[in-house]
Amino acid sequence: MIPFNKPYLTGKEAHYMYQAVSSGKLSGNGIFTRKCQQLLEERYGFKKTLLTTSCTDALEMAAILIDTQPGDEIIMPSYTFVSTANPFILRGAKIVFADSEKDTPNLDADTIESLITPKTKAIVPVHYAGVACDMKKIMDIANKNQLWVIEDAAQAIDSYFENVSLGAVGHLSAFSFHETKNIIAGEGGMLAINDERFVQRAEIIWEKGTNRAAFFRGEIDKYGWVDIGSSFLPSEVVAAFLYAQLENIDNIQQRRQEIWNLYQKELQELNNQVRLPFLPEYATNNAHIFYLICKNVEERQELIAYLKDNGVHAVFHYLSLHKSPFYKDKHDGRELPLADFYSDTLVRLPLFKELTNEQVLHITHTIKQFYKGAS
Ligand SMILES: *Cc1c(COP(=O)(O)O)cnc(C)c1O
Repeated sequence: MIPFNKPYLTGKEAHYMYQAVSSGKLSGNGIFTRKCQQLLEERYGFKKTLLTTSCTDALEMAAILIDTQPGDEIIMPSYTFVSTANPFILRGAKIVFADSEKDTPNLDADTIESLITPKTKAIVPVHYAGVACDMKKIMDIANKNQLWVIEDAAQAIDSYFENVSLGAVGHLSAFSFHETKNIIAGEGGMLAINDERFVQRAEIIWEKGTNRAAFFRGEIDKYGWVDIGSSFLPSEVVAAFLYAQLENIDNIQQRRQEIWNLYQKELQELNNQVRLPFLPEYATNNAHIFYLICKNVEERQELIAYLKDNGVHAVFHYLSLHKSPFYKDKHDGRELPLADFYSDTLVRLPLFKELTNEQVLHITHTIKQFYKGAS
């Protein structure tokens, strides 16, 4: 069976983890944490980054940083993972779900203005499959209405909107290094801070509401409890693992792109029968996901079953959050037909660094056989 995902190891992880362990400093914010943060800041132009134990945690930090209050409204797509919404729910906010674009599962920026009320506090775009949302439109709307923009860039490492790295456009952004993402640490994440006003407080929230980080830099002579916060920082062992991955990012990305391009080339001929991923002009492709859009849920389930019979594990993705058991009674009742459409019709194909060309060709051949039988 060709798995949907297989975590890739560069070979340096254990070595760096051993270094971290033998250094005697295992807790967070040590040498490897700083090496990762520096590499990411320099490579992608974030003002400041803080490693976290997950993208979910980075979003929780963002929700605290913008002072989310009970009753505040946060606009985000319905077609996303629960972690986009939960951090704001935990602070008492109301989620206002937006529909997806016709051409991509990303939130449709043209629908945002009609969702803004005096209670709106922030917009949380999600760059699905690492493909940029229309950040120019979103930032213009946010600036005009004095809203914060927090990018859920969980899937968006090494991807760009025009010439700006995703995660460097909004005021704050969150990345994931979960084992299903391009760059992994098992569980891990990062908050990127692009607005100077958040830098100091972010470090405090990160370290349980204390000014410990400033103390260790020698900026103050004792540290104490100065704000709310939690334990958001990963241990040095996790940061050491992540550093091995980040050093190899070009290598990892190059192979993922090759696989993605091979899928695209081989499946192009099915263009009339099944929809292939669409890349807007302003977006680059980081090869996080290769997906197909089927005609309806029945065809999607038949295709997944057919692939399974032929030794291929392909999977669907999100179920609209506005229809989830937790939120359906809290949603304002608007229909979000495109979010539902992607919930029903999107299927993701295996994509991981060690997937071979032969395996890709087996998968694309199987898909062509499926559609030959169908037409
Ligand atoms: C993976 C993912 C998350 C959660 O990331 P964790 O690091 O597992 O917390 C959040 N949002 C999106 C869009 C994701 O794909």
